[in-house]
Amino acid sequence: MASPLKSLVNDDSRYQKSFQLFLERSSEHQCMQDFIHSKLPDILASIGDGKSHLNVIGVGSGAGEIDLEMLSELRMKHPGVTVDNEVVEPSSQQLHNYRVLVSQKPGLDYIKFTWNKMTASEFEEHWKVKKMTKKADFIHMIQMLYYVQDPGATINFFRSLLDKNGKLLIILVSGESGWGKLWRTYRDQLCNTEISQCVTTGDIKSVLDSKGVSYQSYELPSEMDITECFTEGDEKGELLLDFLTEVLDFSKTASPELKAGVMELLRHPDCSVESNGRVIFNNNLGALVIDQLS
Ligand code: SAH
Repeated sequence: MASPLKSLVNDDSRYQKSFQLFLERSSEHQCMQDFIHSKLPDILASIGDGKSHLNVIGVGSGAGEIDLEMLSELRMKHPGVTVDNEVVEPSSQQLHNYRVLVSQKPGLDYIKFTWNKMTASEFEEHWKVKKMTKKADFIHMIQMLYYVQDPGATINFFRSLLDKNGKLLIILVSGESGWGKLWRTYRDQLCNTEISQCVTTGDIKSVLDSKGVSYQSYELPSEMDITECFTEGDEKGELLLDFLTEVLDFSKTASPELKAGVMELLRHPDCSVESNGRVIFNNNLGALVIDQLS
């Protein structure tokens, strides 16, 4: 049966607001930064095969904060390179934020930005129609595979663009996180929309394993303070709940049974720990690194 609930992604302005609040309440970007500074340099060391010019593609880049950190690590590992950076991002607001960030940050002259205001699948089509032959040295899709119809096919396409020694980095919530538990329990009721789905690195690993694709896997510890969700009528709590369930106005539109079930699960030890009166949700991420198809 089709869910009567509307996906949060249908309302870009509320999505961006809830995403912003999520970033404030969680260690999402800190944990990515830890990964970028501790693990990514070694991952990036072998790309490029000695070239002085590197091609990068960011898919679902958002406002670009994380992208710029990765580009800076890339430049440190490969001093003197110039970079061609294709940004694939369907939200005009986010693209605008990214451009503003770039205009304010000095020292980015080594990067040529190409702004593609489109989804991953539109980019794929555009690439095929234009018969592009350019290859990429580093492609990343961070927290975006929820929004494509067939994550396996999307991975295949972008992997096919990798040059010799190229690498594809995927970051999603970990199968072991509170998200994983929430989605395994309520997938059918929350996530059966056409434009967003509940997929974790656990799911992606199963897809890759079934195709015999090898990958490196990392667990990135992260937390999210969801205490406000438990105060009835709290505006921020409701925004966070929308983000957690990916449902627009979850508190107002979900059935009482579904709401009660979700609220109970969110503070269950499988999803969260309670300490000092705060409810801390397990927001662990997973990172997967896939090599060029050889
Ligand atoms: N990578 C950023 C943003 C993650 S939020 C970060 O980690 O901070 C997910 C991003 O994917 C949003 O900016 C959203 O606009 C974008 N997005 C949504 N659907 C997409 C699609 N089909 N293809 C590519 N990007 C998409």
